[in-house]
Amino acid sequence: MIKKYDYLIVGSGLFGATFAYRAHKAGKSCLVIDKRSHLGGNIYCENIEGINVHKYGAHIFHTSNKKVWDFVNSIVEFNRYTNSPVANYKGQLYNLPFNMNTFHEMWGVKTPDEAQAKIDEQKAEAIARMKREGIVTPRNLEEQALTLIGKDIYERLIKGYTEKQWGRKCKELPAFIINRLPVRLVFDNNYFNDCYQGIPIGGYNKLTAGLLKDIDTITGIDFFAPLERNNTSEKLSSLYKILANAGIKLPQQGSLKSIWENIADHLVYTGQIDEYFNYKYGKLNFRTVRFDTEIKDMPNYQGNAVINYTEAEIPYTRIIEHKHFESFGQSVYDNPKTVISREYSMEWQDGMEPYYPVNDEKNTALFTKYKAEADKLSQTFSKSQEQAVIFGGRLAEYKYYDMAPIIEKVLNINI
Ligand code: FAD
Ligand code: UDP
Repeated sequence: MIKKYDYLIVGSGLFGATFAYRAHKAGKSCLVIDKRSHLGGNIYCENIEGINVHKYGAHIFHTSNKKVWDFVNSIVEFNRYTNSPVANYKGQLYNLPFNMNTFHEMWGVKTPDEAQAKIDEQKAEAIARMKREGIVTPRNLEEQALTLIGKDIYERLIKGYTEKQWGRKCKELPAFIINRLPVRLVFDNNYFNDCYQGIPIGGYNKLTAGLLKDIDTITGIDFFAPLERNNTSEKLSSLYKILANAGIKLPQQGSLKSIWENIADHLVYTGQIDEYFNYKYGKLNFRTVRFDTEIKDMPNYQGNAVINYTEAEIPYTRIIEHKHFESFGQSVYDNPKTVISREYSMEWQDGMEPYYPVNDEKNTALFTKYKAEADKLSQTFSKSQEQAVIFGGRLAEYKYYDMAPIIEKVLNINI
């Protein structure tokens, strides 16, 4: 008798890996595949000069959900890293998020009352200007920022950074983007309001390895690529070996997509939703980031993990110095080298990594069409009330998710 896997999981990022971990605990068998050459999706780190380099962008885990925090710490212990980025505007440094340190650096004010008076004065100017033009509620990010925090902070710390990050003028961007930037009248440089934050001790690959410890995995296999094209590939033979061990014989042609039902009862798909449906309604857009990574022959390049460059004239948005996520105090100097990445935000094109969904009207309408197809599919395959196909994660749901909400979501799935 042919024994199938319970789940074929496409994508070994946080969604796929957490799902596999939970399914395994529930006594189900899983096969996880990934088209990249490694497991872990965007949380993957590459070890360079003994430093865990966040290959797909700096990742800081933060949550207020104790269940999520306890879950990740049960896989790997997290350190006490607190994100406190610094902004560099034309050589002048300011603490982020906007707090008493920033206001002192900006205006020399020393008390919350002095800071509030300065903010109120600048807000009033902006509101009066808008009123003269007949504008009642802020129509875009620029107006929102000016009425929330005033012109000095907007011009030095928001405008250039935001326009570089989104590739559009602040006047053309929706106001909600900066709603999440906290403004505080205390001397507190902690970027996040959450109760818990940190980095896995030993790096994110430990989290991935812990989640996928007892799971069959295979990298370098694309769900959509014709298998016969990979005939010579080592990866493919290990796929066949894994399947043979599970008692599954596969035809040597077609893509995994066309034959997944021979492999597993259920499919968990965490890739791009438009690709699953062969882009039949058109392609969803993304923003992407180019990382320019450099090894520096010095122990401490910038003294902080994250420095944002907020002026328009500097083409990158920020520089990450990776060692500061995991080395503190004197241990920074134990390694005489350091690794930095400059981040260049850009429009996504075919072949680039799709990072940030563009939640404008056009893309939201397009996603709604794909979502309807996905929902139909889940129903078509539905077996005794259970979903046979689950679309999950940031690419399949076309949604910007932080790591903690992804975990929370998977913890709440009825497996
Ligand atoms: P992914 O990690 O993208 O995993 C999807 C996987 O599916 C990938 O490995 C991909 O190769 C694979 N796949 C896709 N298509 C196929 C296919 N056809 N066949 C086989 N495999 C396929 N979150 C935070 O909480 N804190 C942060 O500081 C933070 N910083 C971020 C910085 C950047 C630049 C980005 C882009 C994201 C950041 N995030 C952060 C968000 C975090 O990366 C996501 O929440 C998390 O990675 C989502 O996991 P996922 O499994 O949905 O997606
Ligand atoms: N932002 C800014 N200046 C900064 C950092 C952030 O104006 O120095 C704005 C920018 O518009 C950005 C938004 O705040 O899109 C959210 O930034 P955050 O770093 O919180 O989000 P992420 O980059 O992780 O999506």
